[in-house]
Amino acid sequence: MTADAQSPQFASDNNAGICPEALAALVEANRGHAPGYGDDDWTRAAANAIRAAFDTDCDVFLVFNGTAANSLGLASICHSTDAVICHANSHVNVDECGAPEFFSGGAKLLTAQTPHAKLIPDAIAALATPAHDEHGSRPRALALTQATEFGTVYTPKELRALCEMAHARGLKVQLDGARFANAVASLDCAPADISWRAGVDLLSLGGTKNGLPFGEAIVFFDRALADEFLRRRKQGGQLASKMRFLAAPWSAIMNDGVWLKHAAHANAMARRLAVAIENLPGVKLIAPVEANGVFVDLPVRVIEAVRAKGWRFYNFVGATGVRFMCAWDTPLEAVDRFAADIAQAVRGSA
Ligand SMILES: *Cc1c(COP(=O)(O)O)cnc(C)c1O
Repeated sequence: MTADAQSPQFASDNNAGICPEALAALVEANRGHAPGYGDDDWTRAAANAIRAAFDTDCDVFLVFNGTAANSLGLASICHSTDAVICHANSHVNVDECGAPEFFSGGAKLLTAQTPHAKLIPDAIAALATPAHDEHGSRPRALALTQATEFGTVYTPKELRALCEMAHARGLKVQLDGARFANAVASLDCAPADISWRAGVDLLSLGGTKNGLPFGEAIVFFDRALADEFLRRRKQGGQLASKMRFLAAPWSAIMNDGVWLKHAAHANAMARRLAVAIENLPGVKLIAPVEANGVFVDLPVRVIEAVRAKGWRFYNFVGATGVRFMCAWDTPLEAVDRFAADIAQAVRGSA
């Protein structure tokens, strides 16, 4: 293994390893034989732990990744003749290679470009106007992301307004929660407050970016939407035969608030990084830092100088907008070293 593979980076929260709680749960589940395809105690416990965290009787299905969670979830809402309203920067629009369209058999994505990757009720009203008869797709789903692709969060009040607008137009609401834990930790609210209590019908609950080896959960608050979902998951190639290994880490992070502890740490590291660099000359935050990402505009020479020191991160908006992601395991020391290297690069290029 190279030294590089071990050093903390800011490229993505999915570059981090498995959290100790999830790893211990995997080892614990690795004993003897257990029934396959989810008919096991670990899978039942994981679903119960998620139901308990959300304080409601929802239907829970485990899948391998977020693209499957989003696209199979949206396909449960949409016919091939329907449309999904989403943000132009949303994962479903730009990072899923047409999976929502594919699994729904052709549902169209209708996008809005609003600030900080956050949709607003007016944008939904504009896109949800009835299509001109049979020539246009029927808007049927609103897809939101929490925390958003730009590291911002919707408050419970903002979510309620969006869901109200959607429901009034006959849309169901799907929430991409790849970083849902970061949003809950940031808002210090109950998970229910930014999901079913705000009007969310269907949630992709992310685990991978919060310390699981793999795995997202699809949580149906509107249980009628889960009709035939067992078959849809199988058809989509997402039914794990050794389901206990997908499930056991879920219980480990959902119990005792472990998921929120990890998310709060990642958020705190992003905040610390932002505070350290936001007032440097030539540095400009692209979006408020409300979760575990820092989105910042930097001169190209600074970006190059920081990369030359060995740091990894992604360009996100054009040539000068970059993204720094913090994870459950990002060390405080690495944040400070990274910030110091950015400061030095800024001074060097002045
Ligand atoms: C990472 C991520 C996902 C999940 O992506 P997969 O690679 O399919 O697991 C979904 N939505 C958002 C906003 C993400 O950042």
